[in-house]
Amino acid sequence: MIPLLALTLAVDSIAIDVRTREVIEQHWNDADRAIPVGSLVKPFTALAYSGDFPEFTCTGRRCWLARGHGKLHFRQALAFSCNEYFLNLAKSVDPQTLAVVAAKFGIPPPAEDSAEARIGLGTSWRITPAGLARAYAELAERSGEPRVREILDGLRMSAESGTSGAIGRGFFAKTGTAPCVSEKHDSGDGFTIVIAPAEASRKVLLVRVHGVPGAEAAKSARDILRKWK
Ligand SMILES: [Zn+2]
Repeated sequence: MIPLLALTLAVDSIAIDVRTREVIEQHWNDADRAIPVGSLVKPFTALAYSGDFPEFTCTGRRCWLARGHGKLHFRQALAFSCNEYFLNLAKSVDPQTLAVVAAKFGIPPPAEDSAEARIGLGTSWRITPAGLARAYAELAERSGEPRVREILDGLRMSAESGTSGAIGRGFFAKTGTAPCVSEKHDSGDGFTIVIAPAEASRKVLLVRVHGVPGAEAAKSARDILRKWK
């Protein structure tokens, strides 16, 4: 007999108000416990990169997409969460600069000094769900800054046609996949964060689904967004 619980997705979610930074909805037991959040850290590493974002060709050798993403601009690399692009970016990011950027957004820096850690691979960059949602609220509020604008353009493309494609138009979104740190030992946890709506942002929603990739978690986030309307 299959236990009923096995058929139900384990979904955690937290929503905060962009302006007040207060939690407005929480279905997450330990939202103040720092956890690995995978690629959701990529915007902050990008902010610590100095100079214009490069073009880069992903071969798939160091990417989750085995066939490779091919030639990418920054915006596409963020929308499709290309690991190879971001490893290339992260290797020249100065750890001190990253620590300053992280502090500005209210999150801790990675505990390990490596390009992998800086793009959210492994478990050494841990952030609380509530803290991460507030960091994205800070991104939304800094939309007038040119570098932040480039990042938000990537997050818009992610929601429209990238890894967060389940979300659709009118939002900024990003997915991530990270090793599960709960006792249940699922293969990994999928995350999706959404700034809603894209222009005149009012809320940030962070969703975690145990045992699925980030792109799947985007469907759970979409279902929550629909209930808000
Ligand atoms: Zn790639």
